[in-house]
Amino acid sequence: MDKKLLDILACPVCKGPLVYHKEAAELICKVDRLAYPIRDDIPVMLEDEARTLAEEEEV
Ligand SMILES: [Zn+2]
Repeated sequence: MDKKLLDILACPVCKGPLVYHKEAAELICKVDRLAYPIRDDIPVMLEDEARTLAEEEEV
């Protein structure tokens, strides 16, 4: 994914920065513990589509 695109993306819930997880193809918000999926290189920045991270998951 484009680094520039990542720089402008923010969590839609808290407006905070996101961490790109390449292997999982997810964008992680550490604050909300949500993982936004990236489908066909397009980040899906919707709270409804985001996965909640499990307690034990590293972020
Ligand atoms: Zn957030």
